[in-house]
Amino acid sequence: MSARNADDSGIAVIGLGRFGCHLATSLTQLGHDVLAIDRDADRVQKWSRHLDRVVQADATEEGALRQLGVVDFRRVVVAIGASLEASVLTVLALAELDVPQIWARATSDKHALILGSVGAHHVIFPEAETGERVAHLIVSKMLDFIEFGDDFAIAKVRVPDALVGRPLRELAPAERYGVMIVGAKLPGERFRYADPATVLTTGSVVVVEGNIAQVQRFAMLG
Ligand code: ATP
Repeated sequence: MSARNADDSGIAVIGLGRFGCHLATSLTQLGHDVLAIDRDADRVQKWSRHLDRVVQADATEEGALRQLGVVDFRRVVVAIGASLEASVLTVLALAELDVPQIWARATSDKHALILGSVGAHHVIFPEAETGERVAHLIVSKMLDFIEFGDDFAIAKVRVPDALVGRPLRELAPAERYGVMIVGAKLPGERFRYADPATVLTTGSVVVVEGNIAQVQRFAMLG
């Protein structure tokens, strides 16, 4: 039986640049069986010390991918960025092999369009996404920020003084600031769901959700 049918946890990562190697390492730490592929012998040698399965191959070659058993993986990530030609030809080869979930990294909108048209199912923009997130962290007082599209965001923020000392039911943050407080971490405690009876103290950290402008305004209160 092929691995595609037998075990869903395997993920192939192609391209061990900075992005690809962080991705492969995180997937391994999450308990996935990772097959890492790079055409560069030095990179392969370096990463074989840290990852279980690292092989050298030119991923634009459909035959090489087939030989490596990539066809058995349900999920393959093309983490090549700078070389547009290599990234596009690799996605094309994976599409020819009927890989069900091809994730591909794009470095521009046009690159993304091409990747989609040759068969990528998911296109990711690590540099753009990280840049945007870090910009929010720098200009606001947010401790963490995730934007979900459709003008919806979640942020981790230090509690503003105005929300300290009385139950959230009385302070009504949703009416005052337009954000929903979904979780709270009191100093020295773990994160818990927030409810109307939650009383925040100075130094608490909250997780809030709402539209981007409201979440940003809320973060500036602290
Ligand atoms: P990063 O930003 O992640 O460091 P990069 O943009 O600097 O990456 P890329 O050109 O995207 O560099 O290459 C990333 C990795 O992909 C490199 O290790 C490179 O050897 C590998 N790579 C490039 N083309 C192929 C290919 N055809 N087959 C396999 N690996 C490839």
